Amino acid sequence: MIIRNREDIRQAERIVVKVGTSTITYANYSRNFTRIDHLTRELSDLHNQGREIILVTSGAVAVGTDRLHLPEKPRTIPGKQAVAAVGQGILMNTYEKLFAEYGTTVAQVLLTRMEMRDRHHYINSRNTFMELLRMGVIPIVNENDTVALDDLKIGDNDNMSALVGGLADADLIIILSDIDGYYTANPATHPEARLVHTVTEITPAIEAAAGEAGSARGTGGMMTKIQAAKQAVSSGISLVIASGSEPNVITRVLQGEELGTLFLSRENRLQVRKRWLAFGAGCAGSLVVDDGCVQALQREGSCSILPAGILRVEGTFEAGNTVSVRNQAGKELARGLTHYSSDELDKIKGVRSSLIEQILGSKICDEVIHRDDLVVL
Ligand code: GLU
Repeated sequence: MIIRNREDIRQAERIVVKVGTSTITYANYSRNFTRIDHLTRELSDLHNQGREIILVTSGAVAVGTDRLHLPEKPRTIPGKQAVAAVGQGILMNTYEKLFAEYGTTVAQVLLTRMEMRDRHHYINSRNTFMELLRMGVIPIVNENDTVALDDLKIGDNDNMSALVGGLADADLIIILSDIDGYYTANPATHPEARLVHTVTEITPAIEAAAGEAGSARGTGGMMTKIQAAKQAVSSGISLVIASGSEPNVITRVLQGEELGTLFLSRENRLQVRKRWLAFGAGCAGSLVVDDGCVQALQREGSCSILPAGILRVEGTFEAGNTVSVRNQAGKELARGLTHYSSDELDKIKGVRSSLIEQILGSKICDEVIHRDDLVVL
């Protein structure tokens, strides 16, 4: 789907919601149970309506700081990591209890930059998200602060929410914050600043106006939210920044109400992915397919590539790489992301998908390339 205006948001099915530390804790680092309860109730309700929800939540460091009775967040990396390790469990326990009240099953997913950078990790995490959503679970995501050393760190959950949106093919990302949207200037220091309801292009002027300030408890401020919006729209996902203190804010945004700031993406996820597959990704190898598969591609405009249609595998590649799909004369017909490595494909080419598990010992999925990950050239 593509979101062109507020009205279109009503159709969003898969939504990433991000809450910041300042939304779910008080200034003294203790948990704001009223907020967390409202949040879990609202998300459970949206989930019951048939929407798929992923929650990205901060707060581990703040909650750990509170539990350890520290006067403020530690400043050293080991200090922060240790406090996050204490806080993450408590945070998760709070969500688990409250979501359970509403009959909603949740899962903890802790990510680092590694899952975004490395193709293999990326595909694995993506498959996990898809499976959790299929099972009707709400994944609750945070950065794995305890192991994420400096260079592995995404650093803030605004950027994390955009990355997760891309990873899980979300239709919309909603970032809840202590500010009610993007203003033309910092409203704390510029009384004339106006809230912008819709942004169709993130210009350098917008980035400059975002400033850097965040609250003492949170991490990001407006700067990281604009970075997240940029990343989201460039991967084909629209993003809303709205106030976490507005009653029923998520539901109202999803009803198309003009709350906060909507950053519009011109293309949808599929279009962006297909453009990248066609022009941006290097091919690591080829799959030579049989005439039946060639005809299906031509007849339907696109289709999934199954092991049964593969005659030969050329090159050495990993699961998650981009590969060419060729006919027996060597003509490139399509490109796509393979779920299986060249070694695995050598073993399963030509066989029915029901035999994959028996041959490889495990099965990721029936398709070698899913039609959503395939672009016909
Ligand atoms: N992962 C950090 C935490 O849970 C927060 C990062 C952020 O505030 O964006 O405390």
